[in-house]
Amino acid sequence: MKLLDDLQQQLGQLQVQSLQRRRRTADSPCAPRVVVDGRDMLAFCSNDYLGLAAHPQVVEALREGASLYGAGSGASHLVSGHGRAHAQLEERLAEFLAPHLEQARALYFCTGYMANLALLGALGGADAMIFSEGMNHASLIDGCRLARAQVQVYPHGDIDALEKMLIASTAATKLVVTDSVFSMDGDIAPLPQLLALCERHDAWLVIDDAHGFGVLGEHGRGALEHFGLRSPNLVYMGTLGKAAGVGGAFVAAHETVIEWLVQRSRPYIYTTAAAPALAHALLTSLDLIAGTEGHARRAHLQALIGQLDATLTLQRWQRLPSITAIQPVVIGANQESLDAAAALHEQGLWVPAIRPPTVPRDTARLRVTLSASHTVEQVAQLARALNALEARTA
Ligand code: PMP
Repeated sequence: MKLLDDLQQQLGQLQVQSLQRRRRTADSPCAPRVVVDGRDMLAFCSNDYLGLAAHPQVVEALREGASLYGAGSGASHLVSGHGRAHAQLEERLAEFLAPHLEQARALYFCTGYMANLALLGALGGADAMIFSEGMNHASLIDGCRLARAQVQVYPHGDIDALEKMLIASTAATKLVVTDSVFSMDGDIAPLPQLLALCERHDAWLVIDDAHGFGVLGEHGRGALEHFGLRSPNLVYMGTLGKAAGVGGAFVAAHETVIEWLVQRSRPYIYTTAAAPALAHALLTSLDLIAGTEGHARRAHLQALIGQLDATLTLQRWQRLPSITAIQPVVIGANQESLDAAAALHEQGLWVPAIRPPTVPRDTARLRVTLSASHTVEQVAQLARALNALEARTA
């Protein structure tokens, strides 16, 4: 069969280039200590930044949501799948973000990937121009592909280049689209400058705060709170499967933008609504994020980030400047990164190697992610292991 032969040949090439990916199977809840492929490991790879994925109150709320609303929604939102829990979650999210958005309304999606497709597909019509940051997440890139708008990519963090593009554009609708916290580097986009540019040039600023919502800001309101942003030009996307510990995502913006998405975004309209029990559990996640427990968890996470920074003494492997929970160690070659991840695995540490195309060529890396559920001793163990491993492979 030619088709299968072709695929097998391409899969073989991935293996030769050390680009083949493999999944590991976890047998325990998402937590620092996990059982993976039958082995007890210390994990530094989840995006469960606040440790809510296995939080007893969130798990109990999920159970309660299932008994109240059943296992599935049964239909798409515009048919009959929109439940009370979805509606409550959207109201709570809009209230939570109201300090940063004008006439805020929120819309819950099954995943962040779909929210980005929905958003860019619906706002990026044929008369629009999308200005997309060079290091954006794959879901934003795919959203640009789905949109009928023209797309220009501006270099990572380059405000001047973006301004020139905005000045040159005569498009009726302009959308500047960026991750807030870049998922593979951990750095933060210069959002205040980007917003000022957008306001000056009558453009929307679309922020994907997948890695900021719940983590950044005094109350966990993410990048908007971290920078104290407020503007009618903002369209905000936050995910709920990372710091919020459950799943799904939302877009929050002016109510007119949200109504447009309800009417026009295909990834919202033509899919079965997420289980209402998830939305019900997320109400508890939001309480935790906004309350004293969330505050304490964010403070602990910040302390762990500082601890890792102070105790890693890497020379050859490159640390990237990151004040977030994403702490990459760039090794360069694909195979060397895989070897490093394998050596850590031998010692019972689970740190994923990330390779192209997820990151640019020759920047394969260990992507360390920290969580508020890690202990000081666990982070110390990671730092010791990384320092020793680099010295050993020199
Ligand atoms: N945006 C960014 C920046 C992400 O890192 C991710 C997930 N890795 C997504 C969007 C997609 O979110 P979800 O996992 O909910 O589909």
